Amino acid sequence: MTPRLEPLEPPQEFLEDAASFAITFDPGDTDRMGLYLALLLETNRKFNLTAITDPADAWRKHIFDSLTLLPWIGATAAKRVIDLGSGGGLPGIPLAISMPGVQFVLVEATGKKATFLEQAVAELGLSNVRIINDRAETLGQDLDTHRRRYDVVTARAVGRLTVLVELAVPLLRVGGHLLAIKGSSATGEIKQAKRAMHLLHCHLSNTVKTPTGTVVVIEKLRESPKVYPRRPGEPKRSPL
Ligand code: SAH
Repeated sequence: MTPRLEPLEPPQEFLEDAASFAITFDPGDTDRMGLYLALLLETNRKFNLTAITDPADAWRKHIFDSLTLLPWIGATAAKRVIDLGSGGGLPGIPLAISMPGVQFVLVEATGKKATFLEQAVAELGLSNVRIINDRAETLGQDLDTHRRRYDVVTARAVGRLTVLVELAVPLLRVGGHLLAIKGSSATGEIKQAKRAMHLLHCHLSNTVKTPTGTVVVIEKLRESPKVYPRRPGEPKRSPL
C-alpha cells in the first residue's frame, strides 16, 4: 500500500543526539520513523495520543527517548519484548523499527489507541510487531501464552514504578529485565517500589540518566508468586 503521508525529516539535532548515544540506523530506518511520526501527529488531530505536536520535539522526546532503551535490549540479546501501555506506540514502535530481528508485542488497553497501532504497523510494514488490545493484568495471568514468556518488558509513562513492577515482572522469564523510562521522579519511585520489588522477586540492577530521562533497569531473580498481578485495576487502586 502506498503511504498517504510523507515521512517527517529527522532534524540535525536528532541525528546528533543519536550519534552521541552510538545509535546507528539501517537504510530506511529514519524514513520509517518519520512516517510513524507523521501518522501519530496526523491521528492526534482526531483524538489524543500525545501532548507533543512540534515535529522537532517529537523526534527528540518520542523517537530518541524510545531509542535510549536500545543498548539495554541489545546487551541482553533479547528475542521477545513486550511494551506495556504502548499508547500511540512508544517506546515500542521506534524500537521495533530499529531491531527487525526481535519480536515485539505492544499492549494497549484502550481500543481506539490499539486500532491506531494496528493501522500504523500495517502502513509501516512492521512484520515483527503484534498488537494486543487488553490489559497487562490479564496477560500476566495467561499461563499459556504470555506469563514468563518475555526477555524484556518496556514501559514509558505507565503508572508509578510500584504499579509497573506488579504488571511487568510476571511476564518476564527469570533473568529477564524490565526497562522503564522515567523522568525526574525516578529516585522517589524506586524507593517507593522497594516492597513491590521484594514481593515480585526482582531487584534494581541499574539507573541511567539519558539526555531525555532516566532508564530504570530491574531484573527478575525468581518466579513471581501466583497472586501477582492482581485483578485488572487492583495494582493501581491499591499499590503494593
Ligand atoms: N507509553 C506511551 C503511552 C503512555 S500513556 C507513551 O509513553 O507515550 C499510558 C497508556 O497505558 C495509556 O494509553 C493507557 O491506556 C495504557 N494503560 C494503562 N494501564 C494499562 C494496563 N494495565 N494495561 C494495558 N494498558 C494500560
